[in-house]
Amino acid sequence: MDWIRLTKSGKDLTGLKGRLIEVTEEELKKHNKKDDCWICIRGFVYNVSPYMEYHPGGEEELMRGAGSDGTDLFDQVHRWVNYESMLKECLVGRMAVKPAFPKDYHEEKKLLNGMLPKSQVTDPLAKEGPSSPSYDWFQTDALVTIVIYTKQKDINLDSVIADHRHDSFRAETVIKDYSYLIHIALSHEIQEDFSVRVVENVGKIEIVLKKKENTSWKCLGHPLENHNSLIPKKDTGLYYRKCQLISKEDVTHDTKLFCLLLPPSTHLQVPTGQHVYFKLTITGTEIVKPYTPVSDSLFSEFKEPVLPNNKYIYFLIKIYPAGLFTPELDHLQIGDYVSVSNPEGNFKISQFQELEDLFLLAAGTGFTPMVKVLSYALTNIPSLRKVKLMFFNKTEDDIIWRSQLEKLAFKDKRFDLEFVLSAPTSEWNGKRGYISPALLSEFLKRSLDTSKVLICICGPMPFTEQGMKLLHDLNFSKDEIHSFTA
Ligand code: FAD
Ligand code: NAP
Repeated sequence: MDWIRLTKSGKDLTGLKGRLIEVTEEELKKHNKKDDCWICIRGFVYNVSPYMEYHPGGEEELMRGAGSDGTDLFDQVHRWVNYESMLKECLVGRMAVKPAFPKDYHEEKKLLNGMLPKSQVTDPLAKEGPSSPSYDWFQTDALVTIVIYTKQKDINLDSVIADHRHDSFRAETVIKDYSYLIHIALSHEIQEDFSVRVVENVGKIEIVLKKKENTSWKCLGHPLENHNSLIPKKDTGLYYRKCQLISKEDVTHDTKLFCLLLPPSTHLQVPTGQHVYFKLTITGTEIVKPYTPVSDSLFSEFKEPVLPNNKYIYFLIKIYPAGLFTPELDHLQIGDYVSVSNPEGNFKISQFQELEDLFLLAAGTGFTPMVKVLSYALTNIPSLRKVKLMFFNKTEDDIIWRSQLEKLAFKDKRFDLEFVLSAPTSEWNGKRGYISPALLSEFLKRSLDTSKVLICICGPMPFTEQGMKLLHDLNFSKDEIHSFTA
């Protein structure tokens, strides 16, 4: 908030009195000191000296990009942070280089008439990635169907995120670590809602759009930015749509279950173990924070059938009275909107393959990724023998979904539960303290000597780091551990 206040104060933060300049590489290199520090991110140069003392990662971290192109560094650490908005008052100007357009850029400008345009591969690295997907389209009197051929077997309804906004249509298909984008200004109007089908074993996706008028379309539309391109996922920007707050229920004294409704013009299902970003404008600045979807209760995943077009997303969110984002989120009224991004995260369902023992170490809201992981494992992994959750909290009042967890442990003999409290009352008979070698070595017992194990850990960063260190000391391998971080 202090930084936002400073950016609103009217103070000249670039030292250029509001002018924007073209910055050469030589010029950029000169500004490499704490009190004169310029950094280039995605072609734009910022004077970050005034921001030094506000940078959550500290000055040293920021100085790593001083006088140079910090895009890769930035992406490694927090690609989701909305720097354009946060640093808009620090903008010095653009790098003095011409943007490089792909060779067939002008060719792509022509109308899409149903012929398959040559796929654009925007990054040479993509050649090492999945074989190039392609698309086609066909129509009946009432419908237009876009068909995406991913050429991959492990495609499902989670793999495609589609949005129809005004006359543009955007569908991002996640294929391993890449995104294949369809992005078109449609030639005719369509109805708001559409459907998505996946033919899983051939990797074919069909998106069925409903025409507003039963006329024959001569072409699908005009290509928009990055249409028909395969881009490493880490290089795609975050895409947001506005979701409506449907309900907000108290879960503990400070944690609430938020239910958001996706617009009818969006198809989005967040894969197990992944998170999304929320974006709100707080005193004129766009602020972005990550949140992990959960189910509406620990038992809902067991209900059949889970509707494939489920439009509700649930979040367990702790409100920090002195926080920047959560008080604002808490002030939203039912019916208000919050922008929600495409899913991100590096957890892979394949980590469950042949899994026998699953151990979950969660602290506070670090419980949130465990909700779907737990339900998925208990429902879909036939080899699973045991799931154990060790849940660290300050007091009994802080335990999220305690009675649901206890009910689940009672109902499903494969599931065991252990609460550990760091600040319990004198009546607490359970475990106390912090994550430690003694607690872990007792808890992490394989059901068989040869059991395939996965340990998931999530909580405050120092908790996760400490836990990772202890797990390595206990000789668990990298493949046996997954830590949830941003
Ligand atoms: P902040 O402004 O970040 O402050 C948080 C607390 O720290 C406050 O008490 C504040 O007073 C204190 N604080 C802030 N700055 C300082 C400082 N300099 N010194 C000392 N204290 C300070 N959270 C959830 O509740 N649910 C989720 O599902 C969830 N999923 C997440 C997924 C990922 C991948 C990650 C990385 C985080 C997730 N989080 C989740 C955390 C969430 O993103 C936010 O960090 C959290 O909501 C706090 O936001 P805030 O802006 O309200 O608080
Ligand atoms: P909290 O209530 O402050 O802490 C939960 C428990 O962890 C408490 O018992 C606490 O003990 C303990 N703890 C805190 N720091 C510790 C440390 N350094 N070593 C050992 N134990 C420690 O937690 P919270 O406020 O809910 O915060 C949850 C955190 O999880 C947030 O930082 C959030 O960003 C993160 N999170 C991450 C993801 C993800 O996917 N990456 C998802 C959800 C949440 P004391 O307080 O008594 O010290």
